[in-house]
Amino acid sequence: MADIGGISITENEGNAVLSASFPKIQIVVAGIERLLPSISDLPLFLNLLATYGTGSMITNYNTVITSPRKRNEVDGPEEMYVVLIDNGRTNLLGQVPQREALACIRCGACLNVCPVFKTIGGHAYGTTYSGPIGSVITPFLKNFEEYVHLSYASTLCGKCTDVCPVNIDLHKLLLYNRQKDKADNDSGKLSWYLWRKSSLSRSFMNKGSGGVKSILLSMAFGSSWGKHRNSPRFSGKSFNEEWLDKHPVKKN
Ligand code: SF4
Repeated sequence: MADIGGISITENEGNAVLSASFPKIQIVVAGIERLLPSISDLPLFLNLLATYGTGSMITNYNTVITSPRKRNEVDGPEEMYVVLIDNGRTNLLGQVPQREALACIRCGACLNVCPVFKTIGGHAYGTTYSGPIGSVITPFLKNFEEYVHLSYASTLCGKCTDVCPVNIDLHKLLLYNRQKDKADNDSGKLSWYLWRKSSLSRSFMNKGSGGVKSILLSMAFGSSWGKHRNSPRFSGKSFNEEWLDKHPVKKN
């Protein structure tokens, strides 16, 4: 909180404030987007965080620390430092409209409703921030090209946007990330063009064995679409061929 030069710790078990009391030097590390202009803004956010994070009205322990231990106080550090971390956040700040994701209060509500997160869990994302919000911000906090695949890990059902207490348009921001990916990087365009052409041609789709088609598909998309997933395998015969086997066309 900028006006009082204080930090806020919110938790349910008291471990954080306990461990902040023991060391002689307290070092607070926070992202630059964690700043509030004033302590008078804090009650709103404490309430939102608790309600959307755990369903309770308020967390059990809420502590504001404004300095090291003062004269005559028995507990607390002798020195206190606050380190504000950028670490890619200004990259995100420069992106319109994705910058609105910096308003996230890390309540986790979007994760809890996300069908992808609920199925694969947080570790599968391989990043600090997972779920819908992680998929929006991680490409900017790390390397966009390397992490933009997370923005495709969504059904775009929009549940994340519905529950977000600070109204971040999460599923639309995922689409903006995909759009930026396509604008930045046109590798794969030729492969998609050929895919479209061939999949619209019945005679082409019925040509060759399933194995050959699978190899061609992984060669065409191995470095783009197939980078983070296994390529699908073609069956021996196309659906059309199977159908014609079972329902031969009678010639008059
Ligand atoms: S994006 Fe919204 S719902 Fe998701 S963690 Fe942040 S504040 Fe909570």
